[in-house]
Amino acid sequence: MLNGKIDLRSDTITPPDAGMRQAMADAIVGDDVLGDDPTVQALEKHVAELLGKEKALYVPSGTMANQLAIRTQTRPGDAMILEANAHIDCYESGAPAALAGVHTRRVTGDRGRFSAQLLEAAIPIKNDHFAQASLVCVENTHNQGGGSIWPLSQIQDVTGTARKHGLALHLDGARLWNASAASGVSLADYAATFDTVSVCFSKGLGAPVGSALVGPSDLIEKARFYRKQQGGAMRQVGILAAAAQYALTHNRDRLAQDHDHCRQLAEGLCGIGGIEVDPEEVETNMLFIETGKHDAATLTQKLDELGIRVLATGPSTLRAVTNLTFQADEVERVIHAFKQVL
Ligand SMILES: *Cc1c(COP(=O)(O)O)cnc(C)c1O
Repeated sequence: MLNGKIDLRSDTITPPDAGMRQAMADAIVGDDVLGDDPTVQALEKHVAELLGKEKALYVPSGTMANQLAIRTQTRPGDAMILEANAHIDCYESGAPAALAGVHTRRVTGDRGRFSAQLLEAAIPIKNDHFAQASLVCVENTHNQGGGSIWPLSQIQDVTGTARKHGLALHLDGARLWNASAASGVSLADYAATFDTVSVCFSKGLGAPVGSALVGPSDLIEKARFYRKQQGGAMRQVGILAAAAQYALTHNRDRLAQDHDHCRQLAEGLCGIGGIEVDPEEVETNMLFIETGKHDAATLTQKLDELGIRVLATGPSTLRAVTNLTFQADEVERVIHAFKQVL
């Protein structure tokens, strides 16, 4: 419950709680552009360790983390291979073209996951006609795939194939926390075969702002330069890093609750006529609902009138994302509201 409504539009809607605000108020800060902010430095060190990489860079958004990864590992005119519904391609405002001059080659996967064979087929041959591929991006969990998790073996197949062709590898791990919480695979194991990984503190973990890019020292140094160039270097930003640090310490274990709630919602909704929900597809905190002949935008409006907020992601698709403002006893209220509007 948030401001009197049950808000399932996204896991980004979470405001900082009292404990997080206190941690922000207490943060020791300095000018991070001059390298003086101990709270940012502590966060970067912690995140690099968690992901098993040399260095981390705190940045304002997941989009910036992804775009710095692309900028540092490609040259203008290169091709980058990713899945057709990847956040980087669909929801980052054309940034790969605008900021890095990179052209995207898309492979169509299964709920965001693709095979080594599909990757292999998408790599352009070395010939003057083709943009040369330099980078492959994987997204885990996959947002448009419904919060789907990549099996570690499939990651290893894909990254192994990319390496064979000399390609760099970036993991968009905005919700890697959720993948790890649900599968039990460690963050470092997921990250191991990638050069760079981006992670978000402002999704399920509940910090108000911020992401990190992790990777080897030389790439992170380059990323720091481009962060400044793109206007993302910040001064006494320890006040935000403290929120991220608090989120990592207090809100990681509870992600399992979001996953439980999401599964319960799917099970309750799947019996209702007029919509289609597959509980088997719920792997983490996201649920996509097919609304058939019902207009998704109209349904969101009717649900809103009953105090339930979900997102229309297409003319007949709704998305519900469980998050830390959502409580177990609200599952039934949502199911009841859907019955009422349908
Ligand atoms: C949210 C998200 C991002 C980052 O989005 P920002 O709004 O820029 O923080 C990146 N990748 C995925 C898969 C996401 O869901």
